[in-house]
Amino acid sequence: MYVTNLKCLDCFEEIEFDYVYKCPKCNGALDVGYDYNKLSQNGDCFSMISQVKSGLSHFINLLPCRHPDNLITIGESGTHLLLMENMALSENPLNVYLKNESSNPTGSFKDRPLSISVSLAKELGFDSVIIASTGNAGASAAAYAAKGGLRCLVLVPKSTPMAKILQAIAYGAQIICVDGTFSDCYQLAEQISNIQRIANVTTTYINPFNLEGDKTIAFEIFTQLGCIVPDYLIVPIGAGPLLSAMHKGFNEIRILGFSNKNPALIGVQAEGCAPIVEAFTMGRIEAKAWENPKTVASAIADPLKGYERDATYTLRSIKESKGCAISVNDEEILSAHSDLAKFEGLFQEPTSAASLAALRKLSTKGLFDRNETVVLLLTGHGLKDPGIVSASHEELKIIKPDINQLKKILS
Ligand SMILES: *Cc1c(COP(=O)(O)O)cnc(C)c1O
Ligand SMILES: [Zn+2]
Repeated sequence: MYVTNLKCLDCFEEIEFDYVYKCPKCNGALDVGYDYNKLSQNGDCFSMISQVKSGLSHFINLLPCRHPDNLITIGESGTHLLLMENMALSENPLNVYLKNESSNPTGSFKDRPLSISVSLAKELGFDSVIIASTGNAGASAAAYAAKGGLRCLVLVPKSTPMAKILQAIAYGAQIICVDGTFSDCYQLAEQISNIQRIANVTTTYINPFNLEGDKTIAFEIFTQLGCIVPDYLIVPIGAGPLLSAMHKGFNEIRILGFSNKNPALIGVQAEGCAPIVEAFTMGRIEAKAWENPKTVASAIADPLKGYERDATYTLRSIKESKGCAISVNDEEILSAHSDLAKFEGLFQEPTSAASLAALRKLSTKGLFDRNETVVLLLTGHGLKDPGIVSASHEELKIIKPDINQLKKILS
């Protein structure tokens, strides 16, 4: 175990490792600290970097769980990095890779963070977890709680795609639909976890352990590119812990001596809910909560109401990495959504396709050089929001089981 403590992202106060959510001094978000010196002296991270395996225990030396046996795992991680082959861009770059996180057990990258935060909750003696979610994290929490024998409560906004809700129900969680936004769910989860002994595993910055699971994506990308850091990494963002965790992961690779640079991180939001992009564009490091989120990219429709401070952490990671934040509209998202399936064989939910929409927009603006390497995070599977397809496709043809009718259609 190389975990040392928890550190406040704002005032740098160091506090003892425990299942806590906020800095006792300033309410800032907490970050898990490690003894990197000891880790690099022992050489305990080499195997982690030299191969890609499924199951987060592969990364145990850079995770906060005390023992690999305490990790609840159902085969998350070890996802493919695929070359984008069949879609030309109007301008460079030539090397575009797709990190397909939709092949995790519940169909989204959220399995990585929830594997860690639910495992730690169990390790530290909780028997229930609660989560506010736009659907994917709720399904993941439900699956890991099921495997670990914990009770799971999921709060989702009423507008959540039904397939995600059904998934969480199938895993045995108790689902509560809230007539409000994700932010309303967030506040309810926080209030309950303050008064009852129930671990809040919500995947904003409120739970510092989730980011530790997220960052393993960075380790895998590095390994899969042949121990090379990509020039750009494009990430769909809600509050943005996934993006900050990519930054942490690539920082750790550098601190441990395996690389000497970080990728520029590009955060993508939908035009209908873009508080972080708005702040970035205006050169601010503080965001305003978004009123009335409205987008097909439901997994990143996070208005940040009541925890606007989260945006600042994300903006900090973007700035430090010399990246940017960009928004794309629903039309651009849906066209990327359709093309990923038709040209690359990857059926994604709309949010996931936002990365490709952003790549296209930025390539038109000439951001990339020809030889640069860009990785897109594909964050969630198309079957999680299948209803979106019917809207954009022709009606189903129904025929009698008759060869002549079939011939007629094919001619
Ligand atoms: C949660 C989620 C994101 C965004 O992650 P954050 O860490 O909340 O910014 C992106 N895509 C999908 C499919 C998600 O479920
Ligand atoms: Zn603090």
